[in-house]
Amino acid sequence: MFGLFKRPVVHDASAPALELEGVTVRYEGMPALDNVSFSVRRGDQVAVVGPNGAGKSTLFNVITGILKPQQGIVRIAGSGPNGHICVGYVPQRNRIDWRFPVSVSDVVMMGRVGKMGLLRRPGRVDRQRVQEALAQVGMSAFANRQIGELSGGQQQRVFLARAIAQEAELLLLDEPLAGLDIPSQEAILRILAEMRAEGITLLIATHDLNQAAEQFDQMMLLNRRVVAYGAPAQVLTTENLARAYGGQLHVVHTDGGDLVVTDSCCGGGEPPVAQFVGTPDALPEIP
Ligand code: ADP
Ligand code: MG
Repeated sequence: MFGLFKRPVVHDASAPALELEGVTVRYEGMPALDNVSFSVRRGDQVAVVGPNGAGKSTLFNVITGILKPQQGIVRIAGSGPNGHICVGYVPQRNRIDWRFPVSVSDVVMMGRVGKMGLLRRPGRVDRQRVQEALAQVGMSAFANRQIGELSGGQQQRVFLARAIAQEAELLLLDEPLAGLDIPSQEAILRILAEMRAEGITLLIATHDLNQAAEQFDQMMLLNRRVVAYGAPAQVLTTENLARAYGGQLHVVHTDGGDLVVTDSCCGGGEPPVAQFVGTPDALPEIP
């Protein structure tokens, strides 16, 4: 009850956008995150990659405060995860009940709740922000449609609009590109690039190592622990990949040289697909 009336926390402008120190999460005694520490600068776009079960979704749940770690500290702009209205979260698609009868503009309006007054009634500014957000993701024409009627890519764009309407400063996207066709993926990547220009800090969980290396400044290789974190060229070494993917990583010898391939993909019950990662000596190709 009191939670509803709490004031949003005040940000420390000199603190990193996000900081974890020694975060450990166990499910029934089994560690899903083990002593995870890292720090993200404001405006960085970080791809979080790792095999299924690496703890990517668990990490996001800890950052949003949905899950409390058994050990360690999470700080968002200098203070604990609860009470922030600046954190946008787009959960994995398969964790959302799409039959829920709600329109596209309602979903985006949910992003405004933290900014509304005590009565939680949307005002003129809220409606305007919702319209602007839908326009920014190219979904204005769908404002009155039910969310469940849209394609996967359109649904993800609506959730990005919700984060834009929320004026999120830290955005967590859990595998937003999984299962989408290439044009839908490109539409979302374009929107994320616009967000970078606005200085929004972004963490995006993805299975696609090549895309992660091409599209994002920073990469975190996660497998319960942080195996490597930094610029993609530093992170994507054969040694780091072997540590993160273990038995799921294969070096395939071909006439053209050795290829590094993982057999983990997409999650959500989709069958594993071999994924070409690169050649061990020329990893990765980054523009
Ligand atoms: P990822 O998103 O990288 O695939 P998750 O964070 O979903 O990984 O899961 C990390 C590990 O924690 C997995 O071994 C998973 O089975 C386990 N796990 C996740 N959620 C729960 C839960 N609610 N209860 C028990 N175990 C869980
Ligand atoms: Mg996950």
